[in-house]
Amino acid sequence: MDMILITGGAGYIGSHTILNLIEKTDYKIIIFDNLENGHIETVNTLLEINSKRQRRADARIIFEKGDLRNIEDIENVFNKHSIDGVIHFAAFALVEESVKNPSKYYRNNIYGTLNLLDTMIKHNVKRIVFSSTCATYGNPQYTPINEKHPQNPINPYGYSKLAIERIMDDYDKAYGLKSIRLRYFNVAGADEKGRIGEWHEPETHLIPNILKANDVKTFTIFGNDYDTRDGTCIRDYVNVLDLAEAHRLAYEYLLEENKTDVFNIGTGEGYSVKEVFDACERVLKKKIPVEVKGRRAGDPAVLYADIGKVKNILNWKPERSLEDSIKSSYLYFCKNKK
Ligand code: UDP
Repeated sequence: MDMILITGGAGYIGSHTILNLIEKTDYKIIIFDNLENGHIETVNTLLEINSKRQRRADARIIFEKGDLRNIEDIENVFNKHSIDGVIHFAAFALVEESVKNPSKYYRNNIYGTLNLLDTMIKHNVKRIVFSSTCATYGNPQYTPINEKHPQNPINPYGYSKLAIERIMDDYDKAYGLKSIRLRYFNVAGADEKGRIGEWHEPETHLIPNILKANDVKTFTIFGNDYDTRDGTCIRDYVNVLDLAEAHRLAYEYLLEENKTDVFNIGTGEGYSVKEVFDACERVLKKKIPVEVKGRRAGDPAVLYADIGKVKNILNWKPERSLEDSIKSSYLYFCKNKK
């Protein structure tokens, strides 16, 4: 059974993918994370969940603290463990911050990934599933967005992910590295038992901010003058457990087909900020304080995915609704309010 290195495994999407692998597979897992945005509590919860599932506490999951910007950190992990493949989440992922501090994004996301890829090639590991993003498309020329849509990112975050996609193509041609890039749209929700969830500091994302506003402050809608059905931005919110499943299928596709490819991961449906807000009020069964302020820089009006390709080739489809995502986010929020 393969041993998979999960970079960024202490973060939001990485940790839910590990949960999926614990529950559905026998892969051995090495979690690699610098804990800058990831949390040791999340790692401990995953270790605990795993130890409850198996009788012998063997080392099926191992945590290795390290930073991809230090090539020795990642070299040490490859020297110590016999890794067969990688799922690569570790990255900075805030658009606004990337505009203010591009150096941080290029150094970490691009340079860190180069260190990872070079170490992989050196150790003859040639399978990687990579977290890419719809931010590589930039302002949409048409919707729904398919994988053939031109990639013209409008911020350093999107550029950093696009650069990595191109590097992976070159590494395929030159060294035979096979990669599946999953271009995520918006991600929402949490483990349905509330054990792990979305934990960003500061929190900038829509659904956690609405749920928080219920208790502590007024929720702000960034702009209601867009050219959309109610004036607020439209996004495609895919559930994090569904997204985790897509990573498992992508890894298995690499094992079976050994082919480089790219897939959009969304639901194919767009919801406006106002519709998401209304759905949160329905789930919570109460009024949430809300105000409207100006647009946030860099937000396109409408983004949603064409997911025909991933349905056909990986046989993946979203199983959970927007309301499911809101419910699980709220459960996690209530359990971890402190
Ligand atoms: N948004 C908002 N108020 C918030 C957070 C987000 O109105 O407190 C809007 C944001 O302008 C965008 C949508 O919600 O149109 C989704 O934003 P988010 O930051 O969750 O994800 P992004 O689309 O930036 O990846």
